[in-house]
Amino acid sequence: MKFCDMPYKRIDFDEAKAEVRNLMEEFQKAADGEEQFAVHQKYYALTDRVSTQITLASIRHSLDTADAFYEQEKSYYDEQVPEYSNLLIAYQKLLYHSPYRETLEKKIGSVAFKNMELAFASVNEQVVPLMQEENALTTEYEKLLASAEIEWDGEILNLSLLGPYLKSKDPKVRKRACEKQNAFFLKIEEQLDSLYDRLVKNRTEQARILGFDSYTELGYLRMQRNSYGREQVENLRRQVKKYWVPFSEQLYENRRNRLGVDHMYYADELVYGKEGNPQPKGTPEEILEQGRRMYSELSKETKEFFDFMMENQLLDVFGRKTKAVGGYMTYIPDYHAPFIFANFNGTSGDVDVITHECGHAFQGYLSALDPVREHADIGMETAEVHSMSMEFFTEPWYGLFFEGKDAEDYKKMHLEDAAMFIPYGCMVDEFQHRMYDEPELTPAQRKEVWKELEQEYKPHMDYGDLEFYAKGGYWQRQHHIYSFPLYYIDYVIAQLCAFEYKNKMDQDYKEAWNSYLKLCRLSASDYFEKLLEQAGLRSPFEDGCIEKIVEEISLDK
Ligand code: ZN
Repeated sequence: MKFCDMPYKRIDFDEAKAEVRNLMEEFQKAADGEEQFAVHQKYYALTDRVSTQITLASIRHSLDTADAFYEQEKSYYDEQVPEYSNLLIAYQKLLYHSPYRETLEKKIGSVAFKNMELAFASVNEQVVPLMQEENALTTEYEKLLASAEIEWDGEILNLSLLGPYLKSKDPKVRKRACEKQNAFFLKIEEQLDSLYDRLVKNRTEQARILGFDSYTELGYLRMQRNSYGREQVENLRRQVKKYWVPFSEQLYENRRNRLGVDHMYYADELVYGKEGNPQPKGTPEEILEQGRRMYSELSKETKEFFDFMMENQLLDVFGRKTKAVGGYMTYIPDYHAPFIFANFNGTSGDVDVITHECGHAFQGYLSALDPVREHADIGMETAEVHSMSMEFFTEPWYGLFFEGKDAEDYKKMHLEDAAMFIPYGCMVDEFQHRMYDEPELTPAQRKEVWKELEQEYKPHMDYGDLEFYAKGGYWQRQHHIYSFPLYYIDYVIAQLCAFEYKNKMDQDYKEAWNSYLKLCRLSASDYFEKLLEQAGLRSPFEDGCIEKIVEEISLDK
């Protein structure tokens, strides 16, 4: 069905909640596991129906923020959903403690039960007020960043509008943009310090109430890390320090040479070369059309996927005045339909939507008919393997989006940026572990820790006279550290797996693609390392894996 024809009807939560309660009763009365599973099918149908309507309202609101109807619907759901979600947890507790657990586990899988266990352990009534305060603090942080009014040649810019100037090919322009950014952060430094201090203490208190030694343990549960823990993550970071840092430092050195400067400052390293960053050719419409061509050539499955998306108008990617900012991929369960939202603006970011977001959507499309809904509860590290690997699988078609040498440059830049990200991502992760291990550190001590880590992960870094950054404040602009604690390492794990695919496809594209298809179809039917094993990938937690990836990446390809 076309997106515009999908009917919308507001969910009546009194009815929906009554339905859940009926299902709970039916579930308890069921005579055996088979009967309970039959009730569970009804639960799927109900939750799909509710989530379809909520998703439709939310998409339509973002497509036109001036539409008063969907704005109202969205706030209705914001208000109603928490209580409904609590009731779903009560249902899941029945499922978890069922006397027919064995039968149910055979049908739904043990991962689903493990996830329920993590969810139950990570919240209770007592921490709710602290969670509300935590939300208020992260909102305050987001508002503080959004409040930026940076004067630029008579115009007032926010942080994201300043972005393109930071990557300008003119060294003077990018230096000036960095100075403006530095000055803004310097101005709000004390507020940033105080917000983070309150967040760390709030989260530590939540952990204590729930019976954990530190927030890190609780954070791992909330990130739904059901198969690996702190030791594995620490081992990964150790390997990155040993094998990846020397490699990425060499990439920075290459960049310095390409830029033709004697010494590279922070203000230079975001730029690929003297000519700046490669820009795609063509209008937004043409970029989308090239996307269709690319996916029709890549494989039978991707052709079907992209045709389905176009036919049903599930890609809304052209900028419009009243559209919300940003981009996302979501899923509409009742129609088995992924949906991609973006604002094309003529930069290489448009191509990233076609490769990255379509990777997420393709996985959703492939697993649409999986009868076990719990399998769609995909961990972040796994979901990003789907999207980040697609960025590499689409490499042979970059020429459709960039002209001549730009296509080759985009390919190299993409690989370099991905490789340079690994140490940074680990640094953000190690920093957060240190913060929650020692919640009593002062703001100045926190900045000292960051500086120390920068020495280990990005030893070339020189902020010059940018005072805020030079004294160890860079992390305060990393949104995730405030709003999504302990989240960042997921990107690192996924990026390493995507590099494995990159190396595999350089040896045998077809074989790598088949492994990728298999991984996508597996969804979250198994634990992360087991999924990788089934798809024939090594786990980045394994000793030697990272060393091997570095060895295999050849930049001259
Ligand atoms: Zn993604």
